[in-house]
Amino acid sequence: MLEVVGVSTYYGQIQALKGVSLSVNDGEIVTLIGANGAGKTTLLNTICGVLAARRGDVVFDGQHVTKLPAERIVRLGISHVPERRQVFGEMSVKDNLILGAYHRYGKEKRAVIDRDLETIFELFPILKQREKQAAGTLSGGQQQMLAVGRGLMSRPRLLLLDEPSLGLAPMLVREIIRIVGELRDRGTTVLLIEQNARAALRIADRGYLIETGRIVLEGTAAELIANPIVQSAYLGKGYHHVS
Ligand code: ATP
Repeated sequence: MLEVVGVSTYYGQIQALKGVSLSVNDGEIVTLIGANGAGKTTLLNTICGVLAARRGDVVFDGQHVTKLPAERIVRLGISHVPERRQVFGEMSVKDNLILGAYHRYGKEKRAVIDRDLETIFELFPILKQREKQAAGTLSGGQQQMLAVGRGLMSRPRLLLLDEPSLGLAPMLVREIIRIVGELRDRGTTVLLIEQNARAALRIADRGYLIETGRIVLEGTAAELIANPIVQSAYLGKGYHHVS
């Protein structure tokens, strides 16, 4: 579904991605793990057209999207939920969700969009309870759920999730991760960025490890969990614990 081939992205003179290649197949959860500043956010922003790759290609469903503006890429079926939620605090929870479907109005039947809204409320019952409340009054975890819900309202085929567990209490991290698994079961393909490698690898099918702008390791989630480098640097286990 998604092919990233040899992508290099720069901030001025600074090269943040150094020939990154990865792929995501239909129906998979793929996770990209790596430390602060490794280039994870830069990669997601390059895929969704917020940043331009200087070299390399991004191909979605066989179509080159590398040079397309972000707006066109959303319409093709990629939705990006950025880091640190960024909901519209003054607007109601429901209006934030409706905003996620803005490009569908006028093209699709209102009833179809309303049904999707109900689906989001099924996934996140707390959002239904708070639907009329200003989004800014929600807790951090609830705002994160709202950001994911808004991303889903564009009916993406591929959801790009940037650190959905950031700053959340462990119980909410588990809840968000559980929902990501449920999304996959409902047919959404997910590329998940996480610093919390343990949580991400628990639900991912495959994963990539990125260090200073380069993919240094890839494999199934089970392979990565068993890998000594991943264990020592990302799962908090010392080498001496590796059996
Ligand atoms: P984090 O988990 O902290 O978000 P990350 O893996 O997502 O980390 P990026 O934010 O993609 O990392 O950053 C990759 C590199 O690009 C880092 O060295 C960072 O300092 C640099 N960088 C990011 N944004 C900018 C910017 N706007 N201008 C200059 N350099 C930047």
